[in-house]
Order: sequence, then C-alpha cells, then structure tokens
Amino acid sequence: MKAEKQSSAPRRSSSIERILGRLDDLDSTNLAILVQRLARERGLLETVFDAVEEGILVIDATGTVDYANRAGASLIGLNPKDIGSAVLWKLVPDLARSLDFLREDGLAPNIARDVELFYPEHRWVRLQISRLLLGDDAVRFGVIIRDITDERQNTEAMIESERINSIFTLAASVAHEIGNPLNSMKIHLELMRRKLAKLDVPEEKTKSLKKSVEICLDEIGRLDDILKNFLGAIRPQKPILGKTNLMEIVFDVLAVQKAELEKRNIRCSVKQGKGLPIVLGDASQLKQLIFNVSKNAMEAMQDGGAIDIVSDVDDAFVYLRVRDTGCGIERDAISRIYEPFFTTKDGGHGLGMMIVMRIMREHGGQVGIDSTPGEGTLVTLQFPRPDRRTPMLSTFGAQPAQ
Ligand code: ADP
Ligand code: MG
Repeated sequence: MKAEKQSSAPRRSSSIERILGRLDDLDSTNLAILVQRLARERGLLETVFDAVEEGILVIDATGTVDYANRAGASLIGLNPKDIGSAVLWKLVPDLARSLDFLREDGLAPNIARDVELFYPEHRWVRLQISRLLLGDDAVRFGVIIRDITDERQNTEAMIESERINSIFTLAASVAHEIGNPLNSMKIHLELMRRKLAKLDVPEEKTKSLKKSVEICLDEIGRLDDILKNFLGAIRPQKPILGKTNLMEIVFDVLAVQKAELEKRNIRCSVKQGKGLPIVLGDASQLKQLIFNVSKNAMEAMQDGGAIDIVSDVDDAFVYLRVRDTGCGIERDAISRIYEPFFTTKDGGHGLGMMIVMRIMREHGGQVGIDSTPGEGTLVTLQFPRPDRRTPMLSTFGAQPAQ
C-alpha cells in the first residue's frame, strides 16, 4: 500500500512501520520479528473488529465477501469458512439492488439503506456502503451493517401493522359479503340452464341463450376462485408446512391463469433447472404467492410478451425465478413495492407484493427484484432448502404438517 493513498488522519506509526522504515537492514532475524509482529497486529485488529457490535464486511465488485467480522457473518448467515468465496447477493438478494446501484453510480458512492433480512434470522438492518480506496486497482466496498430491528419494531412498524390489520379485516368482510350474492347468482343461472334444457323449442332458438348462461357460470366460477384466493391471502394464517414441489404449484397457478394469458397474448415458458425444486411449504399459500407474482408479470405487459419461469437449486437454497418482458419498475418504485396499498395501476389494490413478502417471510425465504424500466422484471423467490429449515421453524413459529 503506498503511503500517499492512506488515510490522512494523524496517527502514531506502528512498530511494523518503524521496521519497514529500516528496510535496508531487513536480515532474517528482523524478518522473523516483522512476521511475528504482523501476525500479532493482525490478531489484535481481528479481535477488535470481532468485538464491534456492527457487522463489517469487505466485498469486491462481484459481491464476493473478502472479509467479515463476527457480527457481519452472523447477521447475514455467512459461514466463516466461506469468506473469500461466498457472494453477498446470493446470501442476501435484497442487497443486489444496492450493489447494482454502486456499479451504475461510479466511483465513490456512499449509500445507506434499510434492508429486511430473513435468514438466518428475521431482522432489519441499516447498511452503509462505501467504496474503499485501497491503493491498488482492485475495487472494494466496505459494508457496515447495524441491527435496527428493535428501533423499527418499537415505532412505526407497530402503527403500520395495526393499520394493515384493520384494513385486512375490512377487506375480508367485503370479500365475504360478495360471496353471498355470487352464490345466489350461480344457483339462479343453474336453474336457467336446467329450464332451458327442458324447453320444447328448436335447438337453434336457444343456442345463443344457452351459450350466454354458460359464459356467466364460467365467469362466476372465476370470481369465486379469485375471492377464495383473496380471502386465503389476507387472513393471517400459520403455514402448514409439507414437502412441496414448486413446479407443481406453478402449473396449478398457470392453469387458473390460462385464459388471461391467452387473452393478453402472453407466451409463458416453464423450465426446471437442475434438482427438484422441493421446499417445506404450505401449498395453498405458495399458490397465492406465485399467483400474485405471475399476475403482476402479466399486468406489466400491454401488447403481449413473455413470462419465463425457471427453478434452480444450489447447496443452500431453492430458487424460483419469474422473468417478464413488461414495463419494468422505476428505481423509486422498487423500494416501495412491498408497502401496503402502493400501486401504479389504475385498478390496483397494492396488496399483492405485500402478501408475497409475508408468505415468503413465513417460509423463511426472501424475495429479490431486478428490473430495468422498459425491458422487464425478474422476481427471484429464494427458499431455504428443506434440510436447512429446522432453525427457521422456531424463528417464524410455523407448524410442520403432521
Ligand atoms: P398491484 O398489482 O395491485 O398494483 P402489487 O402489490 O401486486 O399491487 O404491486 C405493486 C406495484 O409493484 C405495482 O403497481 C407495479 O407498479 C409494481 N410491480 C410489481 N410487479 C411488477 C412487474 N412484474 N413488473 C412491473 N411492475 C411491477
Ligand atoms: Mg399485483
């Protein structure tokens, strides 16, 4: 490291620097002393950094973690033996956004943002990211992570959750009330169908009437499904966990959305990557989750387009990636996407992504969003692998299926 690149803050020169100052007489004895002192100084610094409450990480431009103190490793669930190979945004997909931000914004950004972590524990952290000037060409960023869970829980989070709960209760009762007239319309339409069938008139005369009745019955069926999904999603429920194949859930959801996909002229492809995408999950909640994500993907496309759904499995996680070629999300909107009632659509209710987040949280997973306005959006649902789930059960209070 060159002297002029170091910090300009005044400080005492260390014994190592004093020895380095006499480089000319660096014989083998001095060298041994130097190595010992270096090791001791490094040990001292590590002890100090490990005693700090804040997490401290050093990452390179690819997100690979070069250094993590004890608090940093524990906050992001990093095994110390993976330092040097683990990629930060794989561990914490939400950070990927911050890192993209760094790359786009050039040389010396200084960013602070609050991020919700779901693994290894559910916590809120405040991140400060700054580029480190290390004197060589390598690009390194220092990440300081402060745990702000208690701060948040004690203030607006409480108020917000009260507000959400009351709105949910209201929405649930409205949805429930809509169910009753729907049911009565269905009964009357079925009556009409039976009467039409019995009418003693030529088939030609009743054909179009019969068709209209069938269409109405189909549409009522669809409304009924939507209501059931909606009610299921907003009623807070503990997930009943069982081994679930995400691919089967995807196909169930797409069967329900088939008509809408066709109407919108959207091509949809589903691909299973390596490994079976099996997670410990609640099938009906997972259906709701994927329904919301693919519905948003559809609604982002006005003149047709494509949705690609791909599953993938690695050592620690099972991923489901839903990519669309829709309108994309502006940077300001991305940070608000999980807020209740945040919507950019005329008829939107702004609850879908909040439900997505809630279900993922209850499954010990995380949601990552990468979006380019005008090009499309990639939503990554990251679930812990079933063999890594055990500690999450106590964290989120979920009940395993019997
Ligand atoms: P709603 O769909 O009712 O608007 P959501 O909570 O599902 O509510 O989504 C919130 C907002 O997030 C949307 O209004 C939209 O602006 C944005 N969004 C979510 N998913 C996508 C996507 N795949 N493409 C573009 N925008 C999206
Ligand atoms: Mg939506």
